[in-house]
Amino acid sequence: MFENLKPQPADSILSLMKAFRDDPRTEKLDLGVGVYRDADGRTPVMRAVKAAERRLWEEQDTKSYTALGGDPAFAAAMGDLILGEGLATDRRSAIATPGGTGAVRQAIEFIRTARPEARIWVPDPTWPNHLSILAATGRDVAHYRYFDAETGGVDDAGMIADLSAVAKGDVVLLHACCHNPTGADPDAETWKRIAETLGERGAVPLLDIAYQGFGDGLDTDAAGVRLLVQTLPELLICASCSKNFGLYRERVGLLLTIARDADTARMAQATLEHLNRQAYSFPPDHGARLVTIILGDPALRADWQDELESMRTRMLDLRRQLAAELRRETNSERFDAVADHRGMFTRLRLSEDEIATLRERHGVYMVGDGRINIAGLDTRTVPILARAIASLGD
Ligand code: PMP
Repeated sequence: MFENLKPQPADSILSLMKAFRDDPRTEKLDLGVGVYRDADGRTPVMRAVKAAERRLWEEQDTKSYTALGGDPAFAAAMGDLILGEGLATDRRSAIATPGGTGAVRQAIEFIRTARPEARIWVPDPTWPNHLSILAATGRDVAHYRYFDAETGGVDDAGMIADLSAVAKGDVVLLHACCHNPTGADPDAETWKRIAETLGERGAVPLLDIAYQGFGDGLDTDAAGVRLLVQTLPELLICASCSKNFGLYRERVGLLLTIARDADTARMAQATLEHLNRQAYSFPPDHGARLVTIILGDPALRADWQDELESMRTRMLDLRRQLAAELRRETNSERFDAVADHRGMFTRLRLSEDEIATLRERHGVYMVGDGRINIAGLDTRTVPILARAIASLGD
């Protein structure tokens, strides 16, 4: 049997991490992998997470199984964090999943169960693992226009035109905020038009919210999701606690569905739990429980929000600094959109050759499509990067 195995396609980001590690230069810059870093280049355990772990260690008296959907208190707390308290509470169903990736996988399985023929529309570009999961599950995939390479912003007109052509019952995957890989997000007006268009077409949104709190703040980052929940009868929402709680390796995620009424929501809950049962029975609990403790304790929650806010503003300051340095060094407006982007990523308008030159000549590692992780920079390295990019024209 094993002789039939073939090499799997290399994950471009993980290959880049390895190439960076193997590079002997000391003045190298890793802007590849999507992990937050502080000014010292560390990905720290957040203060509130440490405190919640201490409390859990002292107070937890059993490691027995939870429920198939995970602890209902986690689903309730996360549901409120994403939607705000009181929105569509009787239409919600949810399961805890291993990370946001697990939520995406289970969302696709949910669609496969409920409407296997649904075509799934994804933005061009999107997080490569969306495409990989859709291919692995044999889904019918189509792409809608999203990024305007000329302006570095969202191609609003192209996006709405493409979404106007989706069939009734199709699923439309949307990044709720901090689009990965481009950093370009729809503005409030475009979210309204998305809601109207999906409503007219009878399409179901699949929202991926992996960076809530990294863009413009916890509530603003969820505004698009909340608008769609207020407007549309059915939605799927995949959330990750990897970035905003720094719980990457603990694998904390949530798949939240919104049904048209409470009866259908009960059916959705049973289906979701069945999907967990088939995949791994019970979802991981440790990280989810830390999130529940933090969100349920006013002091821990305030401390978590403070720390998250300092991460967000650090990235925003770096983006503004980078846009300004690039403008100065290149004497052009080519990179101005960097300041308008949000979250951890920005797609720079660079050719493949330029990206290769940056790696070879300057030890700057970025993903092949020009995506950089802003958190991989600091106030010292921003000017170095800007000068390296400007020198490409020499
Ligand atoms: N969706 C998007 C758009 C992402 O960027 C990520 C993380 N890279 C995820 C989902 C899932 O993250 P995780 O499984 O680590 O929680």
